[in-house]
Amino acid sequence: MSVKSGSLYSTIPRLERIPFLIHGFGARLWKEDDYKNRPEWKDFKLVLLNQIHSNIIQVIDNVPEEKLKGDAAITGLPFLLLIIKTADCLPALIVDEPQKVIAAVHCGWRGTSKRVIKKVIQNMKNHYGSDPALLLVALGPCIGRECYEVGEDVYKSFKQEGLSTEFFRNHPLRRQKYLFDLKGANLSQMVSEGVEEKNIFSVEICTHCHESLPSFRRDKDKAGRTLSFIGMSS
Ligand SMILES: [Zn+2]
Repeated sequence: MSVKSGSLYSTIPRLERIPFLIHGFGARLWKEDDYKNRPEWKDFKLVLLNQIHSNIIQVIDNVPEEKLKGDAAITGLPFLLLIIKTADCLPALIVDEPQKVIAAVHCGWRGTSKRVIKKVIQNMKNHYGSDPALLLVALGPCIGRECYEVGEDVYKSFKQEGLSTEFFRNHPLRRQKYLFDLKGANLSQMVSEGVEEKNIFSVEICTHCHESLPSFRRDKDKAGRTLSFIGMSS
C-alpha cells in the first residue's frame, strides 16, 4: 500500500474491514487537532504517552486522567484513541478482533533492544487472554533498512541483551557502521511469540526517503511527528 500525495493518513485494508475499529498512520500534515475536528470521532478520548524509548507498557483498564509514561498502551476499553508519535521509529498497531483488545507500540532501536513489542504480545496473552495466532498487526512507516545507519553501540546493545544480530549488515561504505532492519527485528520478536506472519501488514515506505513523512534523521528538530492511532467504537 502507499501514501497518496495529499492524503492525511494511511490505513491497512484488512483492519479497515473490522467494523468497530478505527486506525491510521498520519502524514506530515496530520496533527492532534485533526481528531477533534472530525465529528465522527467526537466521542473518543485521546491517549498520548510520554514516550521514553523504554519497554514500559501501560495497560489501560480505567480512562487515564493524565499523560502516562511509557512506549506502549493496551486497552479493552472503547472510545479511547491510543496514539504513538514517531519520526523514523516504527509505530505498531495491534488488534485482537475476537477479544476486542487493541495496542499501540513505539519501537525505536532502544525499545526494540528491550523487546517492547514482544512484551506487548505477552501482556495481551496474560492480561486479556489473547491468542497470538489471531492478532492482526499494522506496521506503519519507519526508516528503511537501506537508510538506517547505526553505530557499534547499537549493535553491541543487541548483543548484550542476548538478541540476534541478524538484522544488522555491515555498512557497504562506512567502517564500524551498520545498516539496521528495524521492521525485521520487530517482526521477528512478534513471530517468536506466536503472531502469524500472514497477519502482519506493513506500510512499506521509508520515512527517510519519503518527503511527506516526518524523518528525524533527515530533518532533525524540524521533523515533526507521525501520529499513529487506533481505537474501538464499541
Ligand atoms: Zn530510505
